[in-house]
Amino acid sequence: MLQLRPNCEYCDKDLPPNATDARICSFECTFCVDCVEAVLFNVCPNCGGGFAPRPIRPATEHRPGVSVGSRPASTQRVHLKWDRAELPAFIRTVRDIAPEER
Ligand SMILES: [Zn+2]
Ligand SMILES: [Zn+2]
Repeated sequence: MLQLRPNCEYCDKDLPPNATDARICSFECTFCVDCVEAVLFNVCPNCGGGFAPRPIRPATEHRPGVSVGSRPASTQRVHLKWDRAELPAFIRTVRDIAPEER
């Protein structure tokens, strides 16, 4: 089950479970769309993979036990563990390769 992390790992913007601007990589590294497009260039700084929009967990319980109320989002904020000064060089090595070729 997706953790639905509460913030952008780069700029710390709040990304509640119904945020339409949340992006995740295959490991659930979570960033806002502004950072993904303007800073990361669709390169996850943790794994080098690309991003996809994070699905929104329904607030309404349409089926028993599967809503954001019964399966709450994570409250543990995550912060980038890499040196920001090193990021552009890392991103340059990956950004021109399509995610499916990485
Ligand atoms: Zn951000
Ligand atoms: Zn990642």
